[in-house]
Amino acid sequence: MRLIIGREIIKMLIKMAGSSKIEVCGFLLGRRDEEEFLVLEVKQVRNMLNSPSAFEMEPEEMVRALDEAEARGLEVVGIFHSHLKCPPLPSERDLEGMKNWRVPWLIVTPGGEVKGWILGEGGVEEVKIVDEANDAREGIKVLAKTVRRGTFGEGGTNEEFKKLRLEALTQRNPINPP
Ligand SMILES: [Zn+2]
Repeated sequence: MRLIIGREIIKMLIKMAGSSKIEVCGFLLGRRDEEEFLVLEVKQVRNMLNSPSAFEMEPEEMVRALDEAEARGLEVVGIFHSHLKCPPLPSERDLEGMKNWRVPWLIVTPGGEVKGWILGEGGVEEVKIVDEANDAREGIKVLAKTVRRGTFGEGGTNEEFKKLRLEALTQRNPINPP
């Protein structure tokens, strides 16, 4: 199981974690197949608990984010949140949430630690983080492979690949794009 995410996105998430007094949270959006989750963008959602040690996504914002993602053909490929005072390991509360979202959970700390976790059949497993998606050349390789592996269904279309490749190349601010 691999989470492919750009270095720039990770840097921005760490910065986001460090500039907030409460835990930040939201969705990682992109494409997935059985083994790989490819992050194309990040959508932050307000933490309605306003807490430095727990989070819960504000439901209306959450639904809006999911609708927008679906309209643009993106899937939820992960949940991210920050841990401000403890290591990036899932808390009891996180483990409960992971039952509802069976995608990688990315936890970042202001100090720059980043870990991914997923709840599988056999319990919680660590997800390997590959930070290459936003490096333009690597990104194309990853996307090309994703297309070959049929993430786009019947053969995947050239048009769709071209569009994704363009996005990967031109993406400057993947956090909350318009
Ligand atoms: Zn947590």
